[in-house]
Formats: sequence, structure tokens, C-alpha cells
Amino acid sequence: MSAMDGERDTSSDGPTFEDLGLRPELLAALTALGYEEPTPIQTEAIPPLTEGRDLLGQAATGTGKTAAFSLPVLQRLPAERGPAPDALVLVPTRELAVQVSEALHKYGRDLGARVLPVYGGAPIGRQLRSLESGVDVVVATPGRALDLVQRGSLQLGQVGTVVLDEADEMLDMGFAEDLDAILDETPETRQTVLFSATMPRRLDALARRHLRDPVRITIAREQAAAGQSPRVTQTAYVVPRAAKSAALGRILDVESPTAAIVFCRTREEVDSLTETLNGRGYRAEALHGGMSQEQRDRVMGRLRGGTADLLVATDVAARGLDIDQLTHVVNYDVPSAPEAYVHRIGRVGRAGREGVAITLAEPREHRMLKTIEKVAGASIAVQKVPTVADLRARRLELTRAALRESLLTDELDRFRVVVETLSDEFDLMEVALAAVKLAHEAGGGSDDDEEIPQVSFRPDQGTSRGATKSGRRREGDDRPPARGARPGGPVARLFVGMGRDAGVRPGDLVGAITGETGLTGRDVGAIEIHQRFALVEVPESAADEVVQALRATMIKGRKATVRRDRS
Ligand code: AMP
Repeated sequence: MSAMDGERDTSSDGPTFEDLGLRPELLAALTALGYEEPTPIQTEAIPPLTEGRDLLGQAATGTGKTAAFSLPVLQRLPAERGPAPDALVLVPTRELAVQVSEALHKYGRDLGARVLPVYGGAPIGRQLRSLESGVDVVVATPGRALDLVQRGSLQLGQVGTVVLDEADEMLDMGFAEDLDAILDETPETRQTVLFSATMPRRLDALARRHLRDPVRITIAREQAAAGQSPRVTQTAYVVPRAAKSAALGRILDVESPTAAIVFCRTREEVDSLTETLNGRGYRAEALHGGMSQEQRDRVMGRLRGGTADLLVATDVAARGLDIDQLTHVVNYDVPSAPEAYVHRIGRVGRAGREGVAITLAEPREHRMLKTIEKVAGASIAVQKVPTVADLRARRLELTRAALRESLLTDELDRFRVVVETLSDEFDLMEVALAAVKLAHEAGGGSDDDEEIPQVSFRPDQGTSRGATKSGRRREGDDRPPARGARPGGPVARLFVGMGRDAGVRPGDLVGAITGETGLTGRDVGAIEIHQRFALVEVPESAADEVVQALRATMIKGRKATVRRDRS
């Protein structure tokens, strides 16, 4: 693209991780991870937390809150570390326990931090042995933590910091008393940190009981400064992490941007996505803060010279780039703050031109996207990733347009002899079909595309916070449902003994259910397709009928085991 002009100074204006006073070991880990600058929540939270202040933070997933509390926890680990933990992080689910301990482990690499995730459902023996051999930070679900405390295996007398992460979720899941009991086991002099996506009244009460003079941090609620054009069409696609690069490829194929910039969070992501995109036949160039000015100049040269179509960049690297004629801005991740979103999409739709802003969101980033909509005053339409059928339709349309163009403008006479010869043997329509096929394939149309799983935001996110009332969430519940419809009222989850291996897709299950019962597609809830089985939610009142009907019918030409899910 010849659209990149006017490169300006790209130096950062906000504080750096160094400015936040982090230890060299942590700075080294962040550099290795490709984090270029702190997110707003990190900028605000890290200094008071490293000083030892209590903190009450309102922040959703996607803001960088895990690093905001993990870095100070690691920073404050004492030089002399005994066998008992120095910090305790409490989280609502085992998935989050694993994620947070992985984050602590990554950041604490050079400090040799010993981090142990502890959650229900896993064999307790290994957790007991690890605790005995000594740990620095325990990341636990409240139920299992209390269990271990009561057995005397988890000793909290040395704990200097307690973090309650996703505290609203923990309250929703009925952990209030467990939290009180656990906190009572820790020293009164401890530092207490509470993060929550929402601040219901019950949470205030919890905070009053356990926090002392906390610093309060909330994502800004005021309307973000302008810069956003109404001519920017804003769309978000909900995509599971593993399918993101495939989904991006699909979206780019359908959108065919003239000039696009794809924003990533880290240098590593920039590099690996650029490689993936180039592997898929796009002409992508990476731009990040780790590159020398000379490398950056070379990239910009290639963009101006039209030998590249996509720029994959971090916020820092793209700062100050003035890119004319940019048609698309893609957020490969939900930006960590509404201001970053507004700033990014302000790059398209300039000078009255139309622009498109596309955001790829993981199912768990729902709340952050909602916050962005509210703060940025934006309206972001959530769409399904184009299906293989959409893509094929689009490619056929391109082939049709190319043929029409050729019919209108090309000199075709020299091919007449081919058609005439063939028409002795075949119908003209057949000859035309074969010619279209060849033209289609030559234009890159192939039929070997893989379906990308269709997911939606979890039904219990957003307003219907009571959806987990039936009990504590168990393993796997954090996985994204593969479909968005939401049966009203109580739902039953059914197990179907066929999955991806058997070629089952969400549509097959919806088809079988609606075809064999009185239910409509809207009645069918979340669907998860796994390798060897699938889970599907239906209204509780119709569950038995659906089980009977599915047992009696064929799915993908086979009879499947169908029952209520007991796992
Ligand atoms: P969280 O909101 O804690 O779930 O973090 C969301 C994602 O942002 C995670 O994948 C982090 O690895 C990433 N992340 C956190 N802080 C930064 C940063 N300062 N720069 C780049 N990526 C970050």
C-alpha cells in the first residue's frame, strides 16, 4: 500500500515500567515477554501496591489487572523466604487459578518465585507435597484453600499480601464466608488487594471488613475525548484464543482491506502474527518498539512502495504514525483501556472517508468490550466470524466479477476455437462451468477451508449474574459456548457422544434437535464441540424429550450416545 506517510516521533508519553520502580528481575521478564508499556490499571496500581498500600480496584479481564497485582506481589517477596507462603491470591475458578499462577510464574522467573495453584477437583496429595516443600505464592480457589487451612497444611501466618481477584464472582458463587474465614487466618498487618469487575454493595461490606484505607482505582467513566468518527463501522468478533489467527485470516479475506493496521499487545504477538499472516499469503510487516529506527524506516518504505498490505504493530510502535487512506483498524486483542480503543480507531474514517474497526474478543473479554462501548460512546456490533460458506460465497462473487470484467473489456476471440471444439462434444453450459471452475481456482478459490468454531459470550456474563447460582463452577465451565442462543429459564446440559472427530458441528446438533422436537433454534443454548463429544444446553423442561429424540435419530449418519451431562 502506498498509504503510509508522515512518520512522527514515536517516543512514549506515559510512564514506563522502569518509572513504576519495579525490580530489575521483573523488568527483564517484562522485556522478554514483549510488554512495551504499562496499561492504565498497571500505571495506577503498581506504585501504591509496591509501597504496601491496600487497594480496591474495579477492572475487568483484558485490562492487564493480573500483572497489576502480580508484579507488586513479586516485588515485595522478602529476600529470606521460608517454607510458608508470603502471598495468597484467591480466585473464583480453577481456570483462573491456573492462569494467574502461570502469569506469576512468568513474571517471577528471574526471582525464582515458587508459585503453586491450588483448587478443588485436582488430587490433593500433590498440592500437599508442594506446600510442604515450600512455596512463595499460593493461588487458590477459596473452598480448597480453606480445606487446606483446616488440615493445617496451608499456613497463612507469614502471609504479607492477600489478593482477592474477581471478588464479585467469588461472592456470587457463595464464597463470602470462606473468604472471611481465610482472611481471619492471615496476619492483621497484611496488605489486602481486591479486584472486581463490578462493585455491588455486598462487596463494599467485604472491603470494609478487610481493607484498611485502600487506594481506589476505577476505569474512567467519563466520555473519552473525541477523535472517533461516526463513519467508522465498528464490529467485534467473538473468537476462542486458539482460533484467532485463522479467524483474522477469514475476516481479512472477506473484508479485503486496501490498507490495514493490526494492533497486538506485545512484541511477541506482533512477530508471531506477522509470521502466521505471511504464511497464509498476506503481505504483512511487523512494527514494534524493539526495532531500530532503520528497521522501522525499511518497513515504512515497503508499505509506501506497495510491497506490503498489512501493518502489524504495538500501540507504542504505531504512536505517531500518520497513515493516510487506512481503511481498516483491527484490534487483535481487546485494547486494555477505552482510551486506547478510541485512539486506535481514530486512525480510520479520516477526512470523511469510511473506515472499519474490527475487534477480536475472547469470550471472557466481554466485560471489557462493554466498558469500551460505554466509555467511548461507541456502538460495537458483535458478529459471527464468516463461515466457510460465507467465504466461498464471497470468492464466487469475486470470480463472477472478474469474469464480467473480462467479458466487458477483454479481447476474447482467440479463445473461440477452444469453445467451438468443445461444444461439439459438450453442452455450452458445461463448457462455461469448467472454464469458471478453472478461473475460480486460479484466483485462489479453494474449498479446503476449515470451519472456525462459532462462539459467543458466556451467558452468565453481562447482566444475568445469577447464572452460576446452581453451584460453584466446575472444570470446563470457563470454556466458551459454541453458540449464542439462550434458552430462558432453567437449562439442562446434555452430553452427545460424538464430536469434532466425527465431523459434528453446532449446526448438526441444532438441526437434529429442531428437526426431531418441537424446539426452535432459539431454544437451544450454548453448544461446545469437543474432540470426541459435544455438550448442548436445552431448556430443562424439554431435556428428556430431547434426549429421547436424539437417541432415536442419526447425527452425521450415526447413532450417538445421548444423556444428561453428569460430569
Ligand atoms: P488480564 O487483564 O490480566 O487478563 O491481561 C490481559 C492480557 O494482557 C494478558 O494476556 C497479558 O499477558 C496482557 N498484558 C498485561 N499487561 C500488558 C502490558 N503492559 N503490555 C502488553 N500486554 C499486557
